[in-house]
Amino acid sequence: MSERPSFPGDSLAEAGLNRQFVFDLDDLPAKVRQTLGDTTGFCQLILLGHGGRRLWECVQASGIASEHPIDDYTVRTVECWLATQLPGRAYRIVYPGDQPVGLQALGKLAGWHHTSPFMVGVDAEWGSWYAYRAAVLVDFQFSAFFPVDRGNPCLDCATTPCITACPADALAGGVFNLQACSGFRLQPASPCAEGCLARQACPVGAEHRYEATQIAHSYRRSLAMLRHYLNQP
Ligand code: SF4
Ligand code: SF4
Repeated sequence: MSERPSFPGDSLAEAGLNRQFVFDLDDLPAKVRQTLGDTTGFCQLILLGHGGRRLWECVQASGIASEHPIDDYTVRTVECWLATQLPGRAYRIVYPGDQPVGLQALGKLAGWHHTSPFMVGVDAEWGSWYAYRAAVLVDFQFSAFFPVDRGNPCLDCATTPCITACPADALAGGVFNLQACSGFRLQPASPCAEGCLARQACPVGAEHRYEATQIAHSYRRSLAMLRHYLNQP
């Protein structure tokens, strides 16, 4: 049997998509695989994320000024990479998109995700300053990835500054209270309209904290989704 090629991810990392994992579809738990929709004709899933500030710098430099610049930049970058690395091969980008892909479940399998009190994933290297950016089905077989689990930093966090920093007391006892958080964020001139004070208080991976404009962009978007969901003006 010929050896599988290793994943050529350097240019993706250079473009800010610096967290990468390749799954054999046959190895995915059925529940997780189901979230990908119809996978007929594909044998692997590429999961891409970003950690730290590089991606936002690249998005700014790209000049993309759409409603969803990070997604648009990511899709453009991934399509370019696929055209170079897998010309003529079938692929389907299942995220970003309408498919409800189980990103956190995939992140757990990759060793990236540990739950924090404020419900954003954390790991010991990046803290909470990383996110899932793309999931791509491909008709190709790269060599397998092995999970790299750096552990859950919350387990050793004695002072839990995230919990005390939350002005809505929405993390009391280390349990996230969605209603308290949402209600506080929706208040006029809320200090959490454009960022999460709890997230910013976490010292883990602080050197990777997003630039203020990226934080504001992401949280403005999540607040708009919250308003839309609650049918508020
Ligand atoms: S401050 Fe401590 S408990 Fe909170 S997310 Fe960071 S490591 Fe976890
Ligand atoms: S967004 Fe604000 S209210 Fe919600 S968890 Fe973060 S600090 Fe607390």
